Amino acid sequence: MIVKSILSGEKMSFLYNVGEGIYKNWLLYEDGFDRRFLGKVEAVMCLGNGYLGLRSTNEETSSCKTRNLFISGTFNKFSEDEVTELPNAADITELEIEINGESFSLEKGQIIKYSKVLNIKDAEITRNIVWSNSKDEQFELVFRRFVSLENLHLICMKVDIKPLNCSAEIKITSGINAQITNSGSQHFREGNKRFYDKRYIELLQTTTESDIDFVFKCVHNCSVDEERVTATSKMNIDRRKISEILTHEIKQDSVFTLEKKIIVYTSRDKEFSSLDRGYTGKYSNIQIREDVLNKIRDKSLHEIKRIEVKKFEDLLELSKEKWRKIWKQIDISIYSENSKDQLAVRFALYHLCIMTPGHDNRYGIGAKGLSGEGYKGHSFWDTEIFILPMFIYSNPEIARSLLEYRYLTLNGARKKAEDNGYKGAMYPWESAWMNDGEVTPVWGDVDIITGEASKIWSGFIEQHITSDIAFAVWQYYMITGDSDFMEKYGYEILFDTAKFWSDRLEWNESKGVFEINDVVGPDEYKEHVDNNAFTNYMAHWNIKKAIDYFAKLKDGNSRLFNILDEKLQLKNNCKIWIEKVDKIFLPEPDENLIIAQDDSYLSKKIIDLSKYKKQEKVGAIFEDFNLEQINSIQISKQADIMTLFYLLEDEFTKEIKLANWNYYEPKTLHDSSLSYAIHSILASDIGDFELAYEMFEKASNIDMGQNMKSSDAGIHSASMGGLWQAVVCGFGGVRMLNGKLRISPHLPEQWVKLSFTINWNEDLLKIEINKKNMKIENVTKNNKVFFTAFDQVYELNERQIIDL
Ligand code: BGC
Repeated sequence: MIVKSILSGEKMSFLYNVGEGIYKNWLLYEDGFDRRFLGKVEAVMCLGNGYLGLRSTNEETSSCKTRNLFISGTFNKFSEDEVTELPNAADITELEIEINGESFSLEKGQIIKYSKVLNIKDAEITRNIVWSNSKDEQFELVFRRFVSLENLHLICMKVDIKPLNCSAEIKITSGINAQITNSGSQHFREGNKRFYDKRYIELLQTTTESDIDFVFKCVHNCSVDEERVTATSKMNIDRRKISEILTHEIKQDSVFTLEKKIIVYTSRDKEFSSLDRGYTGKYSNIQIREDVLNKIRDKSLHEIKRIEVKKFEDLLELSKEKWRKIWKQIDISIYSENSKDQLAVRFALYHLCIMTPGHDNRYGIGAKGLSGEGYKGHSFWDTEIFILPMFIYSNPEIARSLLEYRYLTLNGARKKAEDNGYKGAMYPWESAWMNDGEVTPVWGDVDIITGEASKIWSGFIEQHITSDIAFAVWQYYMITGDSDFMEKYGYEILFDTAKFWSDRLEWNESKGVFEINDVVGPDEYKEHVDNNAFTNYMAHWNIKKAIDYFAKLKDGNSRLFNILDEKLQLKNNCKIWIEKVDKIFLPEPDENLIIAQDDSYLSKKIIDLSKYKKQEKVGAIFEDFNLEQINSIQISKQADIMTLFYLLEDEFTKEIKLANWNYYEPKTLHDSSLSYAIHSILASDIGDFELAYEMFEKASNIDMGQNMKSSDAGIHSASMGGLWQAVVCGFGGVRMLNGKLRISPHLPEQWVKLSFTINWNEDLLKIEINKKNMKIENVTKNNKVFFTAFDQVYELNERQIIDL
């Protein structure tokens, strides 16, 4: 790998243009060590493969570090008064390194050289350090680490230590440490720990409530100047911890290498989940559990022995091979005068891949992926509205798996509806294991006026997620044409969500309309509002679609129609939908073309927000106001009505979009990472490409930018999906409108060329846009593809060039 070495400066920062040759625009480079900013680097350089996510915490200990290893879907509830969360599994990354009797620590001695690099192409982390101890003895240390994409259960680490001006006695303590918690909540019972053949280390841990067994195995191999050596080894078993202490002496300029390979399985893995456990995930019988556990222990021992004989490089190569295939499928090329743009979109794609459990339809995507404790691993509308489009267009199989997860959570959604006195399926605002139902915590951050914790209302009244999921189902169907999915899962979601909405509507006698009152819309700074435009329009859309598909199924697939009718009483419900749908209150533009975000927004006071618009840290407004006060001012947290304009694009004119942008954007603090990307797309839609680019840059800076505190609790997964959409759907102009493909691109000033591929029904289309024209090629040529570009319809047989 080609990496420039840069001396650490006063303060660390990210460099974006370090990669050269085949790594140009593929490396995110940290040029100095600053313990205050460890959280950011750990999260943005997180490794993973959808099965597991490993925060890139440095091996040696440091005062501000956070060690996190999450395994998708392994939710546990710490106590009755807490919601389920992804437990932080045992740590395998820590290495206590002692050289010539002194602990290696970047908080002591002197750092002569430092760099930490996330190689996005190969999904590998490298740290290059030259460090001297208190006796001016200098050492070069190179740390490498990857999480395999070829073997989802494998993590590999490697450290090279070279004494530069002395000989060295090296002592490394390494193993598996289960003394880890989620901010103090210990989710595991202590399990068995042991060595096999005095070298294979095993640690078991079991979640306290969901009874999931985690089985870790690890092995160490040492070498000097690439020749295997047997270091002196001492075995150690402690409370919740097992380790090996390895000691070896080397001469000046020799290189001591430690390779550590780790395998992890859990009893929630599909291959071990016996049918017996079903939705609850619990064992009905202790014997079954024992049998499963023994099976996992045997398998992991066999695996670690098989892997031990392979070199780090060879295992990495297998993983890289898988990544090459992924990049071939999803990469986007941006030729921009600002090369960071290309890196930003790859960074987003990388994170989207490592956070997504495409291997198992029982799991969703966490709002922080698998990169931090933030949002407890829960899934939000972030998945359907922000992330899913990238998968629908680039990897429909994964998109289907994510929607199947929502199907599998229908029971929880039905229970939530019932608990709230409604029919149908009311999706949880935050979702975890399939049958958990609503898992939004009830209490949040401090209220600066009362000093008490603020109540989080989203779990009770942020209800738009129900139609967001229905919308995503339809979008998936229209773009992929996957009728098998619809028949097995999709129609049921569409109908049952419509059932919820029609029951949720409230009749306003005096106005003669149905309303949806007391909700939180996408803008979470407005609580208990009536008729949030986004919520009402999307509920209306949901019911309308259910009516359409009722008719289509009844005429076209009576077998399925009868099954669903029996399950969901479609005939009776459809009558209700038809009676109600046209009476739903849909706020219209006023004389200035402004659509009220909700009934009360426009009558709230307006204050000067310039101080907060310039804020460095999100949420600065809470230093001056509490939520109740913010509720009474025309301030928005994030894109609300703009998201509506994006999703139901056809229903609003460009003039309406522009007028509302001018009204709402100055009042929007973009305090949610979901905001900028949607604004970028909308700016493209209203034809302001400079503004669209500015918003795109802001979105790309959320995690990859120089604000060194923005990602401590984990990266922002919705923003990663939003970035993809800002490029493909914003500048690339790709949309599915009423089931039809439209591609009307416009590049920002800074970009010379943009190319990407999309799947449309059964075809793969290659799209290349420059300042003069757009080339579209049907790579697979399975079908004729019709599309619209700038209001003209084209039939694509093979290749089409359209002048811009
Ligand atoms: C946003 C929500 C989002 C959630 C998780 C909140 O801050 O307001 O829209 O779903 O974060 O990302």
